[in-house]
Amino acid sequence: VKQDGRNAYLFYDDSMLTDTQRALDLDGRLRQAISNNIIEIHYQPIFDLETNQIVAAEALMRWNDDKLGFISPEEFIPLAEKNGLIHKLGEIAITQACHQAARWQSIMPIKISINFSSVQFRYCEKLLAQIQQGLESSGLPANRLDIEVTESLLFNHTQDVITLLNNLRKQGVELTIDDFGTGYSALSYLQKFPFDKLKIDRSFLIDIDQNEPNRELVGAIIAMAKALNIHVVAEGVETRWHTDFLLEKECDYGQGYYFSKPLPADLFEQLLSKARVP
Ligand code: C2E
Ligand code: CA
Ligand code: CA
Ligand code: CA
Repeated sequence: VKQDGRNAYLFYDDSMLTDTQRALDLDGRLRQAISNNIIEIHYQPIFDLETNQIVAAEALMRWNDDKLGFISPEEFIPLAEKNGLIHKLGEIAITQACHQAARWQSIMPIKISINFSSVQFRYCEKLLAQIQQGLESSGLPANRLDIEVTESLLFNHTQDVITLLNNLRKQGVELTIDDFGTGYSALSYLQKFPFDKLKIDRSFLIDIDQNEPNRELVGAIIAMAKALNIHVVAEGVETRWHTDFLLEKECDYGQGYYFSKPLPADLFEQLLSKARVP
C-alpha cells in the first residue's frame, strides 16, 4: 500500500482498467489457443419432435484455456469479430464439423449446422472457398450441411451476400435464420432469401408456460413459417412442458437441455450410436 492516498491508481477507473486488461489477455490467449489447436467443437443434437429422432447437430465452439479456464463463445466470438480472428475460427469450425459429420453419416444420416456471424460474410469469396474446401476434403455431401446466419446479415446485405447464399443453396446446402425474432426482423427477408429453416430464439421459450403473449408469438411464428414452407426449430427446449407445447403448435424440430447439452465429439457419437434405429 502506498503511503500517498492520492496515488496514481486513483486516476484510473477500476472497471475500465480490468475490462481493457481482460480484452488484451483474451486477444493474446486466443491467438495462442488457435495456434496450439485447442479450440474444439461440441455438438448439440436437434430432434424431430414428431419421431423423437436425431436429425442434426449444431456445431458450437469451445475454448478451454490453460490459464484463463473456460471462456464462453458469447465473450470470445464478439472479440474475434473485432480483431479479425473470426475468419480463422470459422475455418476451424467448418473443417472440424464437416469431418465429424462425414464420419457420422454411416451411423445416421444427420445434418450438421454451423454458425456464421455476419462479419464472416465481409469476404464472401474467402468464405465460399472455406466451405467448399470443408465439403471436398471431408467428403460430406452438400445437402448434409446447414448454415446458420442471423438477421443482422440480411439487414445490411450486399449483392455478394445474396449471390453467395443463392450459390450455396443451388449446391444443396441448407440455410437457416438463427435467433429469429430478436434482430431487425422484417418478414420480407423470408421471401427475399432462400431460407429452408428458421430457429426461434431461446428467449421466447424461457418463461413461456407463464407468458401468454410469448405463447401467442411462438404459435404465430410457426404458423407463418408453415405458410411459407419454411421449417421451424425451437432452441432452448428445457422441459417436458416446452416439448408438449411445441408439438401441439406443430413445430418441426427441437434443441435444448431437455434433450441434451452440447457434447464433445466422442460423447455425441455414443449418443448417436445408441439412438440408431436398427
Ligand atoms: P446460438 O447460435 O444461438 O447457440 C445456441 C446457444 O444456446 C448455445 O450457447 C447453446 O449451448 C445454448 N443452449 C442450447 N440449448 C439450451 C438450453 O436448453 N438452455 C440454455 N440455457 N441454453 C441452451 P453457446 O454454445 O454458449 O454459444 C453462444 C453463441 O456463440 C451461439 O449462439 C453463437 O451465436 C455463438 N457461436 C458458438 N459457436 C460459434 C461458431 O462456431 N461460430 C460463430 N460465428 N458463432 C458461434
Ligand atoms: Ca445457432
Ligand atoms: Ca439463439
Ligand atoms: Ca446467437
